[in-house]
Amino acid sequence: MAEPVRPSEDALIARWFRPLATDPASFRLGDDCASLTPPPGADLVLKTDAVAAGIHFFADDPWDAVAAKALRVNLSDLAAKGARPLGYLLSLALPADWRVDQMEAFAAGLGADQARFGVALWGGDTIRSPDGLVISITAIGAVPQGRMVRRGGARPGDRLYVSGTLGDAALGLMLRLDPDRASAWGLTPAARDHLLARYLLPEPRVALAPAILAHARGAMDLSDGLVIDAGRMARSSGVSIRIGAAAVPLSPAAAHALEAEPGLLRAILAGGDDYELLVAVPAAAASDFERAAADCGIGVTAIGTVGAAPVDADAPIVTITGSDDRAIAIGAEGFRHF
Ligand code: ADP
Ligand code: MG
Repeated sequence: MAEPVRPSEDALIARWFRPLATDPASFRLGDDCASLTPPPGADLVLKTDAVAAGIHFFADDPWDAVAAKALRVNLSDLAAKGARPLGYLLSLALPADWRVDQMEAFAAGLGADQARFGVALWGGDTIRSPDGLVISITAIGAVPQGRMVRRGGARPGDRLYVSGTLGDAALGLMLRLDPDRASAWGLTPAARDHLLARYLLPEPRVALAPAILAHARGAMDLSDGLVIDAGRMARSSGVSIRIGAAAVPLSPAAAHALEAEPGLLRAILAGGDDYELLVAVPAAAASDFERAAADCGIGVTAIGTVGAAPVDADAPIVTITGSDDRAIAIGAEGFRHF
């Protein structure tokens, strides 16, 4: 069967992107720019994040999932800042051999997430990629004026929480690279699929944003791994962080894998791509935060505490402790591009 004919740039925009431009701010993509009236009394919260084939996803991943991932990694950051997402811009670099069915899936993936997270496409740009698919999304959200939750807001005495479970995406990536490990870890097909799905498509904790806005002092999302990202929070807050490894919440699949191979603890604590939220909450607000999180249906777990900055400049800023409360060496730095 012949490949469906690929439309020109203008027709591509009209066919796949105009239907996603449901907010009047975009003028249905009929102008050079969108124009946004911020909600009254709000600050806009701005975030851009790109994902590229071969770096953030596999070149043969389905395009509905990679489009959704590109949007979700941005929505995850907005949620960590306590922001409500409003809309987004999309810069798309398409490989020379893109297909109509792939664009169909791409638009469907974005459409489903737009409905789920209450955002609309405001505009973008479309170019030919010299190599694989690259998707750059700029998402914009809103918080009450002056209230964006900073990563540097943690203070000594705060309790440290994470949403969801950690390590699933890192284990999912390991399974993607070496499928035989599923049987080495004794995983059921459902457990294996859970880990693979958590790598393919993160779950942005958009619903947790109001609880963070109301109760958190500092927050950020975990894209590069708990160890490195907790270090970033500690440094920018001027504090130290102590995390109990046994308190870190694991999915049944990750717990099973860890039992089979205890060395996976390092991948779980230092691996990236979880897109869960790390939240520092004053002790006095801890129970209110837990209740607010439960009310919005997102599990949060206390994993540690915030302390004073280390006096000794060589002392670790993040300490992971084992069951005997002694520090354990993770020795891993998480994901860095450069
Ligand atoms: P320009 O010539 O100024 O680069 P374009 O012809 O690329 O403008 O874009 C025309 C319209 O289509 C604009 O409103 C732009 O925002 C929108 N657009 C182009 N590419 C995309 C995309 N990938 N996603 C959403 N909107 C897009
Ligand atoms: Mg253009």
